[in-house]
Amino acid sequence: MKTSPHRPTKAVIALDAIAYNIEQVASQLPVGTLRMAVVKANAYGHGAVAVSHYIQGIVDAFGVSNIDEALELRETGITKDILVLGVTAYAAVSLAQEHDICLTVASSDWVHELLSLGQSLDGLRVHLKVDSGMGRIGFRSAAEVQQAQQALQTQGVRVEGIFTHFATADEVDPAYFDEQEQCFASLLAELDQVPALVHTSNSATSIWHPETVLNMVRLGNIIYGMNPSGGLLGLPFEIKAALSLESELVHVKKIAAQQGVGYGKTYVSQEEEYIGTLPLGYADGWTRDMQGFHVLVDGVFCPIVGRVSMDQLTIRLPKAYPLGTKVILIGTSGQEAIDVTQVADYRGTINYEVVCLLSDRIPRVYRK
Ligand SMILES: *Cc1c(COP(=O)(O)O)cnc(C)c1O
Repeated sequence: MKTSPHRPTKAVIALDAIAYNIEQVASQLPVGTLRMAVVKANAYGHGAVAVSHYIQGIVDAFGVSNIDEALELRETGITKDILVLGVTAYAAVSLAQEHDICLTVASSDWVHELLSLGQSLDGLRVHLKVDSGMGRIGFRSAAEVQQAQQALQTQGVRVEGIFTHFATADEVDPAYFDEQEQCFASLLAELDQVPALVHTSNSATSIWHPETVLNMVRLGNIIYGMNPSGGLLGLPFEIKAALSLESELVHVKKIAAQQGVGYGKTYVSQEEEYIGTLPLGYADGWTRDMQGFHVLVDGVFCPIVGRVSMDQLTIRLPKAYPLGTKVILIGTSGQEAIDVTQVADYRGTINYEVVCLLSDRIPRVYRK
């Protein structure tokens, strides 16, 4: 979608908050733990290029979901290690070699197919992914890992890391987490040769299971100033939200009682009311289920009334405000604040999804 910088709706990103959050998590980790910043999905909507450039001096590597995200970073001058966390198409493997991008290898079938193509794999760098219970991608036995490792090494591939991913690190009950940890530990114990980098910790694992940290952590959600558990588990340190979503009143009117507002006439004024219109809607990722939630105008909560349209939404104002008055959808205004987790809770989802869904139409503006 076309980014629309001339419209007064923008996401303001505090890059210094991201750097601060990285240092906050790191302060709880064993000295020397390597830091991978996970900047997939456009850095969870915060802008992968700007974020990566700002933090590259304080992290050791970047994690992305696919090769195109990795290439974007390389093309804009990121020289640190980059690991593609998902499965890569065979046809893109040579791009990884060419741009020194590290790939995840997650199955014997993938290895066999790649080797059968007969292309040179010399210098390709990989991490092996173990499925210890997430059930998504990864090897499930030490024998498979060992075979893949040997087959790849014979072809000149450098197997630099091995990792797994926990399904329940952000939950109260540790039973399944412990099971996964056991599974991974016993698989490692069976290997003749353990790759140099061993990592298991996403944000939640780094925060709530620091005993599990091996030599690298993969930090996503927390660095953007969100609590990966939503509101379930408390954080042992302070973080700063990195993203605010702002807009402006582009239309304000006084309507009489019994007037309909929006598609479907789902809202009808009870009395004389002031209605303000904002230039954003579900095409911006402010989904239709946000009807009934609120925004902040001049430190006052104002309800979203009527259906959220594709490009516009309407709010009830306590009084007439001038056109151009600033409106906060995520962030602080006066003494009040709306945080991403509140938006997520209202929508019945997680904070991750709220920021990822903010579409390209919204320009990202950086504050250092
Ligand atoms: C996305 C992802 C992460 C980061 O997860 P957060 O919960 O955002 O910290 C880490 N590892 C893998 C494999 C991932 O896919």
